[in-house]
Amino acid sequence: MPESAVDRLRGTTRSLKQCSFCEKTQDRVRRLFSGIRDAFICDECITYYYNAMAELDRAEAAGGDKR
Ligand SMILES: [Zn+2]
Repeated sequence: MPESAVDRLRGTTRSLKQCSFCEKTQDRVRRLFSGIRDAFICDECITYYYNAMAELDRAEAAGGDKR
């Protein structure tokens, strides 16, 4: 019995882990890291938030001197 593409996709989607931040599934990212319970973060989000954090730190450091 041939498995339909939709059924296959459903089955895959259900078992696939996905990033809790951008909701990309495991197969659409290079790496997916698991947190507690069902929380996950992908390599793209780690890079994004890491850069965002560095940006904030720089902004705070720059603004902090003037305050
Ligand atoms: Zn992500």
